[in-house]
Amino acid sequence: MIVAVASGKGGTGKTTVATSLASVLGDRAQILDCDVEEPNCHILLKPTILTTDTVNLPVPSVDLEKCSLCGKCGEVCQFSAIVPIGKTVIAFPELCHGCGACSMLCPEEAIHEVPRNLGVVETGMAGPVEFVQGRIRIGEAMAPPLIRAVKARIRNNKFAILDAPPGASCPVITTVKGSDFVIMVTEPTPFGLNDLEIAVEAIKDLGIPIGVVINRSDIGDSAVRDFCRNRGLPLLMEIPHHRRIAEGYAKGALLIESMPEYADKFKKLTDDISMIIGIPSKGSSL
Ligand code: SF4
Ligand code: SF4
Repeated sequence: MIVAVASGKGGTGKTTVATSLASVLGDRAQILDCDVEEPNCHILLKPTILTTDTVNLPVPSVDLEKCSLCGKCGEVCQFSAIVPIGKTVIAFPELCHGCGACSMLCPEEAIHEVPRNLGVVETGMAGPVEFVQGRIRIGEAMAPPLIRAVKARIRNNKFAILDAPPGASCPVITTVKGSDFVIMVTEPTPFGLNDLEIAVEAIKDLGIPIGVVINRSDIGDSAVRDFCRNRGLPLLMEIPHHRRIAEGYAKGALLIESMPEYADKFKKLTDDISMIIGIPSKGSSL
C-alpha cells in the first residue's frame, strides 16, 4: 500500500503525521521523504544512512559541427529547453526534463546527452522503519525527476508512506501520482481551508481517494469540517493544539513520543485507510 501525506501549505504538521504513522507500523513501514527541497523526516526519525546515490538527468549537448540547423530539436521540445536560433542551437539544461526526444530525432546525430546532477537519494534505517529521502542539489529547481528516483525505491511488501512537498504544484503531483490514498493534513483556519481546497482540486483528477487530518484542531473555526462534509472527504483524525506536542516537537521528538496515547489513534488511522480503499494494511498494491 502506498499512502502519500500532503498538505496545501507548509507548517501544518504533515511530517508530524507521516513520521508517527511510520513509527507505529514499525518494520511493516517504509517512509520516503519526497519533500526533496526541505526533507525533514530525518530530524524526527533520526535514521542511520546506509547508502547515498547521486541522481543525474541526461541533458542535451549539441555538436554544432554536425548540426544542419534543421530545427527539429526545437520543434519537439515541449519545454523550450533547446532552441535553434539563427546559425546556432542553444540548450538550456535547467529547463530540460531529460525526455531524450531531441537527441532521438536529430537527423545528424549532432546531440549527445550529458549528465546534470540533481541531488542525491539516501537510504537507511530508522529503528525498524526503512528510510528513504531525496535531497536536491542547492540551486537546482528540477525536483520531479529526483522525486521519481526516491519513489523508485518503494518496496512492494511494505506500507510505503510518502511525505509530499507542501503546496499543489508539479512536485506534489509527482509524489502523489500512483498512491493508493492521500492524507491531507490541514488546520481549521481560513488559510488552512484555502490551501486544502486548492490541493484537493489539484489531486482530485488523479482519482486517488483523499482523507483529512486536522492538526491544531481546537483553534480556528468549523469551515474545514464543513468543507470535508460537503466534499465527502472522510475526517480521519483530529490532533489538538497541545503544549506537550509543541514541547516535544521543539526537541525533535515524534508526536507519539510526546503523546504515547496517540499510538492507538495512528494504528486506527492505518486500519481506517485500509478499510476505505479495501487493501489490507500489510503491504503494497503495486
Ligand atoms: S535536430 Fe540536430 S541537426 Fe537539427 S537543429 Fe537540432 S541539433 Fe541541429
Ligand atoms: S531532452 Fe527533452 S526536454 Fe530536454 S531538451 Fe531534449 S526534448 Fe527538450
